[in-house]
Amino acid sequence: MQSLEVPAVGPGGTGAHRNRSPAGGIEAPYHGVVEPYPDRTPARRPGPGEPGPQLDLLDRLERPLRDLRISVTDRCNFRCPYCMPAEVFGRDFAFLPRSLVLSFEEIARLAGIAVELGARKLRVTGGEPLVRRDLPVLIGYLSELRTPDGDPIDLTLTTNGSALRALARPLADAGLQRITVSLDSLDDAVFGAMNGVDFPVSRVLEGIAAARDAGLAPIKVNTVVRRGMNEASVLPLARWARDEGLILRFIEYMDVGHSNGWRLDDVVSASDVLATIDAVLPLEPVAPDYRGEVAGRFRYRDGSGEIGIIASVTRPFCADCTRARLSADGHLYTCLFAVSGTDLKTPLRAGESDAQLAARIRDVWLARVDRYSELRSEATDRLPKIEMFALGG
Ligand code: SF4
Repeated sequence: MQSLEVPAVGPGGTGAHRNRSPAGGIEAPYHGVVEPYPDRTPARRPGPGEPGPQLDLLDRLERPLRDLRISVTDRCNFRCPYCMPAEVFGRDFAFLPRSLVLSFEEIARLAGIAVELGARKLRVTGGEPLVRRDLPVLIGYLSELRTPDGDPIDLTLTTNGSALRALARPLADAGLQRITVSLDSLDDAVFGAMNGVDFPVSRVLEGIAAARDAGLAPIKVNTVVRRGMNEASVLPLARWARDEGLILRFIEYMDVGHSNGWRLDDVVSASDVLATIDAVLPLEPVAPDYRGEVAGRFRYRDGSGEIGIIASVTRPFCADCTRARLSADGHLYTCLFAVSGTDLKTPLRAGESDAQLAARIRDVWLARVDRYSELRSEATDRLPKIEMFALGG
């Protein structure tokens, strides 16, 4: 078996590391030790209309802003225990009131500014984005955005698939290019436990078929693997996705937010998932397509397809993280495990210009040093992290 181990990443692929916990003490992270990155004084980037080369907007760890994840709602019709456990987010949970949620026009304006600053991929998320009414209208606005060079942006969406059967065509007609659907098992009982509302697998499969008929491509499927819940679903899902020609990505269960009761023991590691599949369907690693690609890629040696592994816990990829997040209430976050964000809605609604809003986003990114997954340790478990469904996953 060709080695499926991917060397731990650091600047210039240095491998070995040492870390500093948020509390400033030395704390061994769960996945090993991490060297600090070379601290870089940000080069002054010429403002809009100012002379000088349009440098990439790089953060303090020399990562460009390339991806904006846009949460259009904090609401969801599922109650996945790893994201929005029902015992915490029950029927009477107070989600964002409408008045605090960005309008489609406000979202499109902020997304346009982010594209001007370097974002090339926009991912529409939630909560569950398809519960937001008239979503194709927003997709239409976003699909019209162009990079400073006039190129179209990469526009995609992540959904739990529950409303996809009806919305796939209108979303595609509005300009959506591709889509990612979450599906944690093909077994109804297991899937029902993973989505917390006993939603049937068949309805998600109908949504995927509708996405295919609507011409959305590629269609990717995300599966969160949690020990004691769905690890037995790994191989059946791999076989199904291969037969269907879908790109399946397995996601290590993460300590997102502060409500899912995460334990390291419940994590099924990337190595375990790969070994399970490789024993039956031999795999080999594939080089990433671009810097910042979230999933580690592996193809079947018989050429019949590929899978991805998103291994935030055991193989962190912060060194190449090019993602920012915009929450439904207009806050900018620079990490999935953030404890705070920057309010863009208030200055936007107070009448600030695009240039002023761009300066706010630029300053946030230039000061960014996030690398939570490389620093994850017992000390970070206790941080009051923002819930994943509130900042767009
Ligand atoms: S932990 Fe934060 S910095 Fe690291 S990859 Fe995830 S979002 Fe990026």
